[in-house]
Amino acid sequence: MNAHLVIVGAGLFGLTIAQQAAEKAGADVQIVDVRQHIGGNAYSYMDEETGAEIHKYGAHLFHTSNPLVWTYVNRFTSFTNYVHRVYTTHDGEVYPLPINLGTINQFFHAHYTPAQARELIARQAGELAGTDPQNLNDKGISLIGRPLYEAFIKNYTAKQWQTNPSDLPSGIITRLPVRFTYDNRYFKDTWEGLPTGGYTAWMKRMIDDPRIHVTLGTDFFDDSQPLNKNRLVGKVPVVYTGPIDRYFDYALGELKWRTVDFTEVRYDEGDHFGCPVMNYADPDTPYTRAIEFKNFNPERRDSQNPDRTVVWKERSRFATRLDEPYYPVNTVQDKTLYHAYASRAHQEPGVVFGGRLGTYAYYDMHQVISSALHAYEHQVAPLLAAEPGR
Ligand code: FAD
Ligand code: UDP
Repeated sequence: MNAHLVIVGAGLFGLTIAQQAAEKAGADVQIVDVRQHIGGNAYSYMDEETGAEIHKYGAHLFHTSNPLVWTYVNRFTSFTNYVHRVYTTHDGEVYPLPINLGTINQFFHAHYTPAQARELIARQAGELAGTDPQNLNDKGISLIGRPLYEAFIKNYTAKQWQTNPSDLPSGIITRLPVRFTYDNRYFKDTWEGLPTGGYTAWMKRMIDDPRIHVTLGTDFFDDSQPLNKNRLVGKVPVVYTGPIDRYFDYALGELKWRTVDFTEVRYDEGDHFGCPVMNYADPDTPYTRAIEFKNFNPERRDSQNPDRTVVWKERSRFATRLDEPYYPVNTVQDKTLYHAYASRAHQEPGVVFGGRLGTYAYYDMHQVISSALHAYEHQVAPLLAAEPGR
């Protein structure tokens, strides 16, 4: 192996570092991933029967307000004009999300103006007035008042996290805006869209460089294959994007993650929901949400099957070591444990930890790309420059 840099994980963090190292330092890069495909959790594939692009690890919508990231990703793909909109089913009715004037008026059977709705919610949220809510439960009530919180957030969050909302960080729902207009765009970022040719085509283009080599189906911790931790760490710079606790063989304990189980259902109709994402706010529906992939790409209607559609229903649960870790639970104990691992990570010779798993962070794609661009400049480039013989 003659690579100047080894990257563990072909997700967006690893691919961004690989692309930068080849382009900026002319480095030979070896990527290794335990999965049989590149792209990490953003990987997708085409479903032959329906013509839908299935996002294998759950629906992925690209959005960012970071001009650096937007310019960077547009080097490798164009984006459709898809605008993400989500609906939720509560008590037999479908409501628009995120909570907006439409949701509020439908819920209260009213015709409040923006000012009236604002006043109503302020009154309902008044029980926590003057406090600085630190957990999800208090944050939710302070943002939208108890009635809306209990209808749309409380039970969904309980299904999604199976953790008392009072023990969850408030940041989880700060992602969900509340609007006193009828604007039901899910994201409020400057740019959003889906990669025109699909996620995998985008990510293949990122590493379309003869200096970048990818080895799939290979576990970095498997000593029986050559691209392993014991053989490489300390000898060549390594970027590690797998779980940080796994790297240290869980020596200090396990960080908690949530995983998602998907149940696939196929229907004899062209469109089952009339939208791409339907959430289920109530506890009696075991799923958190259902994804109808065809509806992410209406611009591909001509190549999609008009008579069949595919839906994936999502159910979340605590991950075991054998599951895909999706969402960091991030309780106070988890954070303390993560910091203990992070100080060990700082002492690893020539190893940069990054990405969602490597830094135990709830990152969106644009955040992962931004942090990878930063990590390249500040951590990886200096390591490459210091390598003897380069
Ligand atoms: P990953 O994509 O997880 O890549 C890490 C890679 O490391 C994996 O391919 C893994 O196989 C590999 N690896 C791990 N251990 C080893 C090992 N021992 N040896 C070799 N390889 C190893 N972001 C958005 O912007 N919009 C969304 O709508 C969105 N929706 C999401 C929905 C779900 C259900 C999930 C889970 C995430 C979502 N995200 C979304 C976040 C997005 O997936 C991540 O930000 C991004 O994919 C993280 O990239 P990464 O490279 O850090 O990690
Ligand atoms: N959420 C909720 N009800 C909903 C949608 C989201 O309570 O209908 C909360 C829930 O706690 C969830 C968080 O908002 O974990 C973030 O949701 P989002 O859909 O943005 O995150 P994703 O699961 O797609 O990462």
